Amino acid sequence: MAKQEDQFKRVVSHAKEYGYIFQSSEIYDGLSAVYDYAQNGVELKKNIRDYWWKAMVQMNDNIVGIDAAILMHPTTWKASGHVDAFNDPLIDNKDSKKRYRADVLIEDYCAKIENKIEKEVTKAAKRFGDAFNKEEFITTNPRVVGYYEKINTILSRMGKSLENEDLADVKALIEELGIADPLTGSKNWTDVKQFNLMFGTKLGASAENAMDLYLRPETAQGIFVNFLNVQKTGRMKIPFGIAQTGKAFRNEIVARQFIFRMREFEQMEMQFFVKPGSQKKWYEQWKKNRMKWHLSLGMGAGNYRFHDHEKLAHYADAASDIEFKFPFGFKELEGIHSRTDFDLKAHETFSGKKLQYFDHEENKNYVPYVVETSIGLDRMFLAVFSHSLKEETLENGSTRTVLKLPSVLAPTKAAILPLVKKDGLPEVAKKIVADLKWDFNVAYDEKDAVGRRYRRQDANGTPFCITVDHDTLNDQKVTIRHRDTMEQQRVAITDLKDIITKEVSMKSWLQKM
Ligand code: ATP
Repeated sequence: MAKQEDQFKRVVSHAKEYGYIFQSSEIYDGLSAVYDYAQNGVELKKNIRDYWWKAMVQMNDNIVGIDAAILMHPTTWKASGHVDAFNDPLIDNKDSKKRYRADVLIEDYCAKIENKIEKEVTKAAKRFGDAFNKEEFITTNPRVVGYYEKINTILSRMGKSLENEDLADVKALIEELGIADPLTGSKNWTDVKQFNLMFGTKLGASAENAMDLYLRPETAQGIFVNFLNVQKTGRMKIPFGIAQTGKAFRNEIVARQFIFRMREFEQMEMQFFVKPGSQKKWYEQWKKNRMKWHLSLGMGAGNYRFHDHEKLAHYADAASDIEFKFPFGFKELEGIHSRTDFDLKAHETFSGKKLQYFDHEENKNYVPYVVETSIGLDRMFLAVFSHSLKEETLENGSTRTVLKLPSVLAPTKAAILPLVKKDGLPEVAKKIVADLKWDFNVAYDEKDAVGRRYRRQDANGTPFCITVDHDTLNDQKVTIRHRDTMEQQRVAITDLKDIITKEVSMKSWLQKM
């Protein structure tokens, strides 16, 4: 646990030191759970967004994008159920005066039991060596089976109580499990209450005439209300999808864990409209497809898992999360939801307008069903950033900090370094920068010894360093150094573009899907 916490602290401080993420309004001591993306962070975030957009919109003939406004007509949120049901159960500790999400306290308790399971598995794997069969072990070892049963009992009781709005039982469960305030150890809890997560705001100049609005808590509704506009103007045939990326706002109760849970964050969502009855097939298809997208980034299959929901939201007939192994354990990164025709039907009812599709093959109108994929861009950023940050011990015993970002996502693709600041080397290096910057984001760096510059670029996640030396003046060749292997090659300046393209282009990476 201590190791995990250390790694997480390193992630937060590295993100600041290398210009990835700053606390919002830091000079005023910051604003809780709100963050700014700095000069490198904005590039990494953009590259993740582009990687998603390419795979989702541009590579799929039947998916198009939109960019809906953050402010929407307030009835939208009545129809979607957010006004009445977008609540989190909160509980206060009477001694520490700290506020928590009751469901998160219980889930964290279960995560601790999961850690115990992982320890048992590691121990057994060591004991049995090559003969170890994990599947068999976790389904037959009495202690592990007992742990799983305990987790299931707790989570299904919590699910039922939340569904039935039985908040007294949620509190009883916390007390029965002996869950204490993680900060102080106190078990002196208030009752559990519901808390609406939407931020309110006002439209209009005078107080009397102002209209109450909400900052959107999800991007999805902007797509639902535009469903027919896009279908008609784009002449889209079912099945088809509408995608968008954009800001969403939630007044989160427990806003901890850096950019994992923020009050202002960005979502990348795609709503796929299908024929009623075919939703199960498309749900399975999108689960597979989204996992493939994640795996294409090469961050290790063992770091992802599906978590199928038992407790379903009011609009869903199936739901699953793709969880990622963050420095604080496996947590939700993306949700795949089969949303039925709930949203379109609700908007029909509240707006009085038909939101139906005429199916020529079937020769009838219907309200399509929807399967959605919804991923938090900031969470994806945290997954990529925290996974990539490594401390390595080199052969000579020294250590280096290296940010092994998937090169397709790296903010800077190459740094061009003149070996010395004289003899015409800077001029050659700057000419290379001027050529390459048409195709890639590149940097020029002439400060400090070249070894230090390599280290700086390693820590910044730059996949290539290109060094111009005195020989370059005669042979028009440079040394290209690879971040991960630290291997160096002598190559012609004219070959640089091809070498970098092969390594960093979306095509090379997405073809792995
Ligand atoms: P959680 O259970 O963690 O609160 P959720 O199930 O409410 O998340 P969804 O409403 O399904 O999340 O939103 C889809 C995605 O948006 C999530 O998988 C997550 O990546 C991202 N997301 C949701 N809330 C936040 C937040 N407060 N900060 C950053 N990302 C978020």
